[in-house]
Amino acid sequence: MNAIATRLESVRQHIQNAAIKYGRLDRGIQLLAVSKTRPAEDIRSALEAGQRCFGESYLQEAIEKIQQLSDMPAEWHFIGRIQSNKTKTIAEHFDWVHGLCSLKHAQRLNDQRPGNLPPLNVCLQVNLSQERSKAGVAPEEVAALVHLIHSLPRLQLQGFMTLPAPAETLKQQRHPFQRLRELRDKIKTKELPLETLSMGMSADLEAAIAEGATIVRVGTAIFGPRNIQK
Ligand SMILES: *Cc1c(COP(=O)(O)O)cnc(C)c1O
Repeated sequence: MNAIATRLESVRQHIQNAAIKYGRLDRGIQLLAVSKTRPAEDIRSALEAGQRCFGESYLQEAIEKIQQLSDMPAEWHFIGRIQSNKTKTIAEHFDWVHGLCSLKHAQRLNDQRPGNLPPLNVCLQVNLSQERSKAGVAPEEVAALVHLIHSLPRLQLQGFMTLPAPAETLKQQRHPFQRLRELRDKIKTKELPLETLSMGMSADLEAAIAEGATIVRVGTAIFGPRNIQK
């Protein structure tokens, strides 16, 4: 096995162990391999090792890789900051968007989603206290926005994403993830179950699984340290 296949296997094992530990075997926990800054060959290695979903943050490099790997059955998730002048490119090339933060961007993505593609899966990014980036919607604004986004026919609102500030202990790491889960439980309805909780990265994977993550976004633990800082 190459290094990526080996690390991928160990991340899968880590997820499986956490799922057992926290009684999460009933529901799937999807691994999103965060491939930002990595060359297409690394993504190809991961695909060959059975990984299917990839997260990208920088649009231009993402589009190049998506085109280079168009022969492979990859699913592409945009996890970077959305800029208004880039929504069309995102709507045309991605299957999921995790960092949706405004109604304006939701409307643009809805209007620009090509008719031959299925609705674009989106997660609303929620800004819980002490978030490292200022991106995300304040918790008290989430419910109203959920209902507006739900009415857009070319978007499929799957749930929520969060990106908390790094924290040291498992207990500290769990806190924002717990708040996101509780917020979701308060807002969800039968017709809008908001099942996705996109939370947890290499360093706080276990805390996120403990609190109900359904998608974990893992880069470093699969591909090694990133040397390109953007
Ligand atoms: C880079 C990134 C990740 C992955 O972080 P790692 O620490 O490499 O696992 C996850 N989510 C988002 C939004 C990112 O930008």
